Parts: sequence; C-alpha cells; structure tokens
Amino acid sequence: MIIIVVRGIKMNLINEKAMVLKQGEIRAMFEKAKLFNNVISLGIGEPDLDTPKNIVEAGCKALNNGKTHYTPNAGIIGLRQEISKNLEKFGINSNPDKEIIVTTGAMGSLSMCLMVMINEGDEVLIQDPQWLNYYSQVKFVGGVAVPIPVYEKNSFKLVAKDIRDRITDKTKIIMINTPNNPTGAVLDYNDLREIADIAIENDLFIISDEVYSTLIYDGRRHISIASIEGMRDRVITINSFSKSFAMTGWRIGYAAGNEMVIDKMTRLQENLVACVNEPAQYAAIEALRNFDISENLKNIFESRRNHIVKELNSINGLSCTMPSGGFYVFLNIKATQKTSSEFANELLENKKVVTIPGSAFGKMGEGYVRIAYTLEESKLLEAVARIGDYVGSLIKE
Ligand code: PLP
Repeated sequence: MIIIVVRGIKMNLINEKAMVLKQGEIRAMFEKAKLFNNVISLGIGEPDLDTPKNIVEAGCKALNNGKTHYTPNAGIIGLRQEISKNLEKFGINSNPDKEIIVTTGAMGSLSMCLMVMINEGDEVLIQDPQWLNYYSQVKFVGGVAVPIPVYEKNSFKLVAKDIRDRITDKTKIIMINTPNNPTGAVLDYNDLREIADIAIENDLFIISDEVYSTLIYDGRRHISIASIEGMRDRVITINSFSKSFAMTGWRIGYAAGNEMVIDKMTRLQENLVACVNEPAQYAAIEALRNFDISENLKNIFESRRNHIVKELNSINGLSCTMPSGGFYVFLNIKATQKTSSEFANELLENKKVVTIPGSAFGKMGEGYVRIAYTLEESKLLEAVARIGDYVGSLIKE
C-alpha cells in the first residue's frame, strides 16, 4: 500500500474510497478554460437562463416571512403534496407522507438512494456512456458499476438484451436516465416495458433519473418506468427543479417510490444535512404550480437543438444523431482521427470552445464529444463556426 504523507500527516487516515475520488473531467475542462480569453463554453450542463422571477419572488417572500428554519427531514408537506400531484401526471401514485423525500438536488437523491441500498460488492448496471457521477457514486458506497454499452446505431438507447447479458447473482440495481445525459436518448414505452420485465424476472430494483423529463421534443411525452404495471414498489423515481425550472443553484430535487427506501433515505438525510433549505422548498412549490414555465424552457431548447444539429451535420467530418431530449448533442468526431480528449483540448486551445470529451462518460464515449446547447443562438452559431474551422484544419477535402 502506498502511504502519502502531507505535511507530516499520514494520509492513510483518510478512508480508502475517499482517496480515489478525483475531479471529474467536466470540472477539469472548466478549470482549463479559465486560462483563455474569449471562450465559448458548450460544456455547461445547466440552463443559461436565470430562474424565472415568480419563483425567485416566492423564495424571497418565504425568507421575509420567517421561513428560515429547519423543516421536516423529508421536506415540507406542502411541497411533497405538490410533487405527488405532479407525479400523477406521469401515472405515478405516491403517498406524500411516506413515499416522497425532498433532497439537495437530484444528486442528493441519487447518492442517498445508493447509500441506503448498496452493500459491499453489489452490482449496479449503468449504461455507457452515462453522466459520470453515477460511476463514482456507486464505487464510493462499495458497489460495483457494471457498464452496459449503448450504440449510436440504436440512437444510444439502452437495449434489453444487453442488460440481460450482464446480470449476475450480485446484480441489485439498474440505473436508467431518460432523457439521457450525455446522449439525449429517450426511452419509449416498449423500451421501458422490456427493462421493467427484466427487473421483475430477476428481482432487481430500478433507480430512474428523470431530471430532463420536461425537455423532450418532437411532441413526445415523457414516460416514467414507475408508471408501468408491476413496477410501483420496484422503482425510485428521481427528479429535480434544476433543469426544468432553471434552478440549478437552489439545490433542490426529490425522490419518490418504495416506502422503505424513502424512509431510510429520510433517516439518512436527518444525519447528513437534516433537510433542504426552507426558502428553496417554497420556491419549488411556486415552480410546480406554474408548470408552463418548463414548457417555455423546452420550446427554447428545442429550437436551439434543431439549429445546432443542422449546423453541426453540415460540417464535413462531423455527424450527430438528433437527440430526442435534454440539452446535449453527442457529436461523432471519429472521422477526425483524434481521440475525444485530443479533440476537446485542441478545440479549446486553438479555437477557445469548451466541449466535454466523450471518454469522460465511459469507454463507449470515445470518438464523441458532448456539446451542451445551453447558450443563446448567436453564441451557438459562433461556436459551431469555430468548430468548423478547427475540423477543417484536420480534414482536407
Ligand atoms: N442527473 C443527471 C443525469 C444530470 O445530468 C445531472 C446534472 O447535470 C444531475 C442528475 C444533477 O441534478 P441536480 O442539479 O438536480 O442535482
């Protein structure tokens, strides 16, 4: 064992799992981008728009009215009731008293759910590529993240057979994320029905991360796997206000589902952070009561998606499938012969555009970079022009 000594203190004092935690590649690209001027960032996974005024005012009003205290560990009941009403729209019945917890963003839900469910060595099936935090969260709680490859030829959708092939007697959980970060893939009813059947046949649990559920395009409707027959108690549905209501900085989200899991998460939250800050919970009520806000955001992102995909596909040497949801394009750069890390780093150094190397999202992400279209259209077009210049210097007609 290597023991690192820092200013005379042996660092084996620190938990071994904490020692392997490192900065993710998304944050690393942001750090590097600070070294340059005139940078356009297509790296940011959050809406560029500020939180709508009425939501901000609801938060301020709560503060002015003395809502400055601890709340119940699971969150104020008024918010849990609104969440329950909202889940009904997606065919999910949940008891606001026992089956819902308000957490610090979806990340609070994801990490606590894994903490209360995973024993050392339990296997968790996660699609590859996938938002990188899943892998590190699973590892940190002693689980084993088992990647399931998804392919561009299948529009990056998780395919039931590929899940089945990787089930062992240690498999406990399948994590799904639709619409998906980084690919923009959306699972439809049939995809989800097949995954549900696998879970039922093999007695598995599903963690369903639906933080992009309102950002779904071409007139499609989001489907929650918890609404599928037989799945009610086998799923924890996780969602948040971050992407749907431009509220990333408020740090508020929720989990709903199996009563025992929610109860344990609530007991854990009591020990970790007690509760989510009170004014954010009042702001979240205002958000859910004005759901059309998320519809407006969706329309903005859908229009940007249409433009950027068309522009990117017109660049010789690049291609991308049309993402069905979220606010990311997973751009195929294979024809440039660059690794995704080389591509992203050179693009930043030479053209001052931030993208995220696909390899940051898993082995299957190699050959792609993730582009977030979380910028106004004029900036997006400028960024695409710079990408075109860079790729033009690599690929001669
Ligand atoms: N889940 C996915 C798939 C994400 O992409 C993100 C953020 O990028 C999160 C969860 C985190 O959401 P929150 O801000 O609600 O913690």
